[in-house]
Amino acid sequence: MNITADTRCPCGTGETYGSCCGRLHAAFDADGSLTAPTPEALMRSRFTAFAVGHEAYLLATWAPQTRPESLGLDESLRWYRLDVLGSTGGPFDAAGTVEFAAHYRSVPGTPEGQRVKGVQRENSRFVRNGGAWYYLDGNVS
Ligand SMILES: [Zn+2]
Repeated sequence: MNITADTRCPCGTGETYGSCCGRLHAAFDADGSLTAPTPEALMRSRFTAFAVGHEAYLLATWAPQTRPESLGLDESLRWYRLDVLGSTGGPFDAAGTVEFAAHYRSVPGTPEGQRVKGVQRENSRFVRNGGAWYYLDGNVS
C-alpha cells in the first residue's frame, strides 16, 4: 500500500497517517521508541503496520514471552479497514484489552487468482512494561 504522511491513516481515525499511526512508526524508526499511550493506540498502529508491511514494528510491539521469530507477512492480503469495538487500559494501567474487527481482501492479480475477502474478529490482550505497551495475545472469534 502506497502511503504518505498526508494519506488518510489506514486505522480509520480519519486523521492523516503522519499525525496518527505514522508518528508512532516514525518514533520507532528513529530510535526504537515505543510511544503508544494506550492499548487502543498500539492496536491501531499495529493494524497500520500490517497495512504498510512494517514487520519490524509488529515484532517490536509484541510481548517477548509470546513474540514469534518472524511473521512472514502475507503479501497477497491487504488490510484495509479496522473497527475498534471496545477497549480497556489507559496510560497508568499495566494491562488492557482491545476488541476489534480487521477487514482484509486479496490483492488483485495475486498468483492464487482467487478473490478473498473477510473479517478477523479478535479480543486482544496488551501489557505495559517499562512504560511501553505490548501486544500479548488474542482470542480470534
Ligand atoms: Zn492511525
